[in-house]
Amino acid sequence: MNYSEKNPPADFDVVVVGAGGSGLASALEAAQNGLRVLIVEKAPQPGGATAWSVGAFTTSSSPHQKKAGVVDSRDQHFIDMDLVNANAKRADNMQLRRLLVDKAPETLQWLMDLGVEFMGPHAESPHTQPRMHNAVPGGVALVYYLVKHCKKAGVQIACNTKLQDLLFKDGKVCGVQVLNNEKIQNFYAKRAVILASGDFSGSRSMRERFFDPAVVNAAPVVSINTGDGLLVAEKYGAQIINGDYAAFYIPRMRFVPQENVGWIARLPPTKTIAQLMQWAMKYLPPAIIRPFMMKMVTTVLGPEPALFKAGAALINVAGGLIDVDFKSPARKLALDHHNKGYIVFDQKLAQQFQTWPHFISTAPGIAYAYLKDYEHSRPDIFHRADTINQLAQTIQIDCTQLHNALQQHNQKNPACGPIEQGPFYALGPVRGYITITEGGLDVNEQLQVIGKNQQPIPHLYACGSAGQGGVLLDGHGHHLSWAFVSGRHAAQQVLQETSIY
Ligand SMILES: Cc1cc2nc3c(=O)[nH]c(=O)nc-3n(C[C@H](O)[C@H](O)[C@H](O)COP(=O)(O)OP(=O)(O)OC[C@H]3O[C@@H](n4cnc5c(N)ncnc54)[C@H](O)[C@@H]3O)c2cc1C
Repeated sequence: MNYSEKNPPADFDVVVVGAGGSGLASALEAAQNGLRVLIVEKAPQPGGATAWSVGAFTTSSSPHQKKAGVVDSRDQHFIDMDLVNANAKRADNMQLRRLLVDKAPETLQWLMDLGVEFMGPHAESPHTQPRMHNAVPGGVALVYYLVKHCKKAGVQIACNTKLQDLLFKDGKVCGVQVLNNEKIQNFYAKRAVILASGDFSGSRSMRERFFDPAVVNAAPVVSINTGDGLLVAEKYGAQIINGDYAAFYIPRMRFVPQENVGWIARLPPTKTIAQLMQWAMKYLPPAIIRPFMMKMVTTVLGPEPALFKAGAALINVAGGLIDVDFKSPARKLALDHHNKGYIVFDQKLAQQFQTWPHFISTAPGIAYAYLKDYEHSRPDIFHRADTINQLAQTIQIDCTQLHNALQQHNQKNPACGPIEQGPFYALGPVRGYITITEGGLDVNEQLQVIGKNQQPIPHLYACGSAGQGGVLLDGHGHHLSWAFVSGRHAAQQVLQETSIY
């Protein structure tokens, strides 16, 4: 949209679109260097996918590695990314990979200086060195400290404010048009607009454009991320790279999030709490600390395919048996029009999934969660009954349907032994979820958005998922590293540019 007045009012130096990890990082970097910054955020509060995240941040050359005696380097991390991204079977953006691995160490330190506590380094194959660092208690701590410092640095955050369009003056981006409480409003940026509006996992039409039906039907974890920044930039000639790539085995089966989280999960994720938790994990008996840690979990956990391999049945909410493909257990669930079901098993399997290596899911803080952990911390998704009829009543499925489904399951899976010995268990609801998408705008090394004729769109930058630019981020912890590295880098590039007026 072209702005026609001669001199548009320059309210801010920078307008950032989106108050997730990358947007908050770019806003803070810009504000700490003297720029006037506004963040427009579509949701009622900041956070985005970053607040949902486990908090894994992958980097070499950290103080944690040094303390643990790990010898590592940015170059080795760069080389290892070939192994980590091998399954993608597509070319990586090597300039952005270089930016990621080179700047991740100082970015981790920057987050630590803001107050975030990290545990690690944790090993993850095929990395040749342990590089995963986990924010304590999770992604919420990252958002908490970034928002706190943004406010201190004078960043204005306008929530419930959705990007609608970009404003142009003489061919350069000069602001954004937003929708706020059903009112259209313009905000002007003297130096730049930075798109940090996340991915498109929440948009069914975007999923239809790029993915197969199982992914289209999957439920988004972060439904507010509907690719708005990508679509607006596309109008002005920008391209989406790797829109069709799904690194995180999507759809992924996950337990539904807890509706009413208790007081433990509502504790502010401050440094003191994080340090107390780390101390407790070191010195308190697991029986005391495990339930506490599980109750702190604010992300959505995913059950292991091992449960089905060991003989558990997947039953949809109407009582129908769903065949499970062990390679992608959520695929048929997502295709089922309910996309909601329960994992049902009996006493044999319940006994088995109480100790290593038979865990129900991974879990932040305690690494692996067993059936007992779910019993103590997630009563909303843990169901047990002496008989199949009672279990059916508990999970509100017709008794005859459940009997029939289990009978079918027992006939189809003789090798694991039948589900027949009470007490009987159901975990769920589970759903097929789409966690994140990988498609981001084409950007150059300065994170300027590339438009028509391969030229940067003047004064338009992108970072985080919106500015993923074809960099491959497989494995755990690279998405957050990219969000923070790219967020700060975009702001640093803006600082180096001159004002448009
Ligand atoms: C359950 C889960 C666990 C994860 N765990 C990890 C992990 O441990 N490690 C890791 O590396 N990655 C993890 N990820 C991925 C990681 O969280 C994301 O890749 C990363 O947070 C993206 O940051 P971002 O700033 O680009 O986007 P976001 O954090 O999603 O922020 C985007 C923001 O833009 C806002 N927005 C969207 N549209 C508009 C609009 N039109 N106008 C204004 N604002 C808008 C959104 O509301 C949101 O607040 C996880 C993701 C999920 C869902």
